[in-house]
Amino acid sequence: MASDRSPIVVWFRRDLRLDDHPALRHAAESGRPIVPLVVLDARLASSPSIGARRRERYGAAVVALDRDLRRIGGRLIVRRGDPRAVVPAFVAEVGADALYATRDVTPYAVGRDEAIGSVTPIHLFNGGLIVEPETTGHVQVFTPFYRRWGAIAWGEPLRAPTRLHVPDGVVSEDLPPSPPMGGPEALVRLRTFARHGSARYESDRHRLDLDGTSGLSADLHFGTLSARRAVTKVESVAFARQLAWRDWAHHLAWYDRNASSIRADGTEPEVRWRTDGDGVDAWREGRTGYPTVDAAMRQLLATGTMHNRARMIVGSFLTKDLLVDWRVGEAHFLRHLVDADVANNRLGWRWVAGVGPDAAPFVRVLNPSLQGERFDPAGTWTRCWVPEVAHLSAATIHRPWLAASG
Ligand SMILES: Cc1cc2nc3c(=O)[nH]c(=O)nc-3n(C[C@H](O)[C@H](O)[C@H](O)COP(=O)(O)OP(=O)(O)OC[C@H]3O[C@@H](n4cnc5c(N)ncnc54)[C@H](O)[C@@H]3O)c2cc1C
Repeated sequence: MASDRSPIVVWFRRDLRLDDHPALRHAAESGRPIVPLVVLDARLASSPSIGARRRERYGAAVVALDRDLRRIGGRLIVRRGDPRAVVPAFVAEVGADALYATRDVTPYAVGRDEAIGSVTPIHLFNGGLIVEPETTGHVQVFTPFYRRWGAIAWGEPLRAPTRLHVPDGVVSEDLPPSPPMGGPEALVRLRTFARHGSARYESDRHRLDLDGTSGLSADLHFGTLSARRAVTKVESVAFARQLAWRDWAHHLAWYDRNASSIRADGTEPEVRWRTDGDGVDAWREGRTGYPTVDAAMRQLLATGTMHNRARMIVGSFLTKDLLVDWRVGEAHFLRHLVDADVANNRLGWRWVAGVGPDAAPFVRVLNPSLQGERFDPAGTWTRCWVPEVAHLSAATIHRPWLAASG
C-alpha cells in the first residue's frame, strides 16, 4: 500500500536535465524517495525518420543525465521497450504511488501519455515550453500571438535539486554507449552565447558565413536546456522572439493534434506537386548546380546542422522551383537534422511552402543567388561546402554559370 515514504517515479523524456525541471523539483521537495526513469522507446529507436545523429545526441544526453544524478546522490534507471507497457509495469514494480513527467504537447507524446494515463495516473508538469498553449489560447497568426506571449510573466527558472534519495535495489538496464553531453554542457553554451553572441544576434543571425546564432536548438529539443532558462539568461529581444516561434510551433502542434489532414485545413496552395525523382535526389544530395542550395544540403548530410536562412532557401527551392511537395523536405530534415523537431520542422516547412494560416505567400520565392550574395557576400561559407566553385570570386561564386560563359 502507498505511504508517504513510497517513491515517486520521475520519468524523463524530452527534458533530460536537472536545471529548471519543475517535475523533479516538486518530487525532490516532497522529501520522498525518487526513482528517475528513462525508457528507451523501441518505436523511436527503429524509426526510419530518426537519423543516427539525432539518436546519438539523445544517447549522450541520457548518459549525461545519469552522470548528473549521481553527482547529487541519485542514478538513472534505464528500461527499454514501449513506454505504454514499460511505464505502468515499472510504477507497480517499484511500489510508487506517483508518476511525474514534463508535459510534451507534440502528437506522439500526447497519445502515449493519454494511453499510459488511462492505466496509471500521470502528473504532467509544465517545463518544455516558456508559455503553455492554454495561456495564450489558439492564435493562428504569429504577430498577435507574440504580443500575447510577451505580456505573460513566465516566472523564475528553478535551481536543480542538490540531493536525491533513490531507493536501492531497482535494477537498471545498460546506458546507451555514448560519451556524455547534456545539461551542464548546454548551460556552458548558453552562458557563452549570452556573454559573447547575444549583442550581435539581431544583426548577424541571418548571415550564413558568421557564427551569429545560439546553436542551442538541439539542447532545446532534447530538453538538456530549459527554454525558460534560455530566455531569462539572454538579454536580446530578437532571441526571445525566436523562442516565441518555438512556443508557437508547439502550440500549433497541440491545437492541430486531432486534425486528420493538413490538406483539409483549407490552407494548401493549389499546386500540382511534381512526383518524379530526379530533382529531389539532386536536392537531397546537393547537386542542383545552385551553390547556396548545394552548400546547405551537403552541410546537412555531413553535420546534421543547417542555418535557419539556409533552411528557408532550400525549402523555397524545393517547393517553389522544383514544385516538390513540402512533406518530402519535411521528412528529409526529420531524418538528418540533429535538432529535428516535429513541431518546429512542420511550422518551418509549412511557412516556407506557403501553407498554413500565417505562411509566406506561395508566390514569394527566394532566389538562391541573391540570397547567397546577401547572406554569404564573400562566398566563404559556400566555398567550404562546394569545392568545385571555390576558385570563383565573390562576384561570381553565387552565379557560376556567368564565370563559365565569360
Ligand atoms: C524549413 C525549416 C525547417 C526547420 N526545422 C527545424 C527543426 O526541425 N528543429 C528546430 O529546432 N528548428 C527548426 N527550424 C527553425 C530554425 O531554423 C532553427 O530552430 C534554428 O536554425 C536553430 O539554430 P539556433 O539554435 O542557432 O537558432 P537561434 O537563432 O539561436 O534561435 C534560438 C532558438 O529559437 C528557436 N527557433 C528559432 N527559429 C525558430 C523557428 N523559425 N521556428 C521555431 N523555433 C525557432 C529554436 O529552438 C532555436 O534554437 C526550421 C526552420 C525552417 C525554415
